[in-house]
Amino acid sequence: MQHLHELAKAHLSFLCEKITNRCVGSKGNLSATNFFSEQLENYNWQVERQAFEAFDWESEYACIEIGELVLKAFSSPYSNSCNLKTEVEIVSTIEELKKTDTVDKILIVKGELSIEQLMPKNFVFYNPDHHKNILASLENSRALAFIFIVGKSGFYEGGEYPFPIIEDGDFMIPSVFISEEDGEQLLMHKPKMLKLISRTKKIPSKGYNVIGRQGHGNGKRITITAHIDAKKGSSGAIDNGTGVVTMLLLSELLKDYIGNYQIELVALNGEDYYSVPGQMTYLKNNKDNFSDIALNINIDGAGLNIGKTAYALINLPDVQINKARDVFKQFSGFVEGKPWLQGDHSMFLQFGVPAIAISSEWLLDNLQTQRITHTENDTMSRVDLDKVIELANAICTLIYKL
Ligand SMILES: [Zn+2]
Repeated sequence: MQHLHELAKAHLSFLCEKITNRCVGSKGNLSATNFFSEQLENYNWQVERQAFEAFDWESEYACIEIGELVLKAFSSPYSNSCNLKTEVEIVSTIEELKKTDTVDKILIVKGELSIEQLMPKNFVFYNPDHHKNILASLENSRALAFIFIVGKSGFYEGGEYPFPIIEDGDFMIPSVFISEEDGEQLLMHKPKMLKLISRTKKIPSKGYNVIGRQGHGNGKRITITAHIDAKKGSSGAIDNGTGVVTMLLLSELLKDYIGNYQIELVALNGEDYYSVPGQMTYLKNNKDNFSDIALNINIDGAGLNIGKTAYALINLPDVQINKARDVFKQFSGFVEGKPWLQGDHSMFLQFGVPAIAISSEWLLDNLQTQRITHTENDTMSRVDLDKVIELANAICTLIYKL
């Protein structure tokens, strides 16, 4: 136990304190996947790395100038640069957007068009029609750039305000966002013409999923997943350093596993990046063999130092349900939660694979108001390492039982 504690602490501190930035495209992200594959190789796991292209992105400067007024703005993450002085239109509904002559203008976007973050246009896992409609209408407007006045009543994970309405490297029209207060100042000037500068930098890079395999089993696999990337600006201890550390502990606990299944430990890379490139690469490479997977166990947001570890059993056959409940009952730190679908297990569910989703009870209960994940508050001080170790032990016990 002491040994696992030391190990978990060292792994988590490497991922969150030594590296600090594990966002896809960054050097830290490459260090994290290297570290993960080296650790697995040390315990004689067979390691596969799946490469994909991705870019890192930096924002340098953004502002809006009208007359004497200079407003600081925020470049939308992954957006292109612009330096424009041109005519302006203001729109707040799709109807207005369609009616207005917007070609080659800067559009100030507010109201219902600027209240929530829009899913990236090529995001396949969850993409509501009204998001697709808004994005398509914005693109069809042939405007040169957008200024989003972000509605205060909107919801954004992590709670920062103002938050980006567009976070999508595949959306080519430049955009910035500002708060309602700054928006009011801007609108007071009844802008007909303004200057918009947004300087950003795209840095081409690569990323990897890392898959470790142990045992051969009877042709079926148990696939344990956790995303290894973190949101830009967050050291990602709870989201999802603890998930990666749980897998690293399992790489030791299961190093001699010979049982009914082949065990896969999969560090997916991109849950918190606009195009989820690791997940898309994993899908492309595995679309014909999901039926070999008997169970997915996905860890995301576990190990918080408040509340219990939550697990949800989704589409499991009865015999697996009973075994899973029996195992989790042997440990004091677990509570069964209602199924949630946000997370990488949804990809497995889509292909008919049963899944156990694991997170922290408190995070699930406070999803709308929590200020930990995706923020700078997501540090090691939020982590209860004993819960991470308990989780690794529970998964190990379950695997031997299945
Ligand atoms: Zn996550």
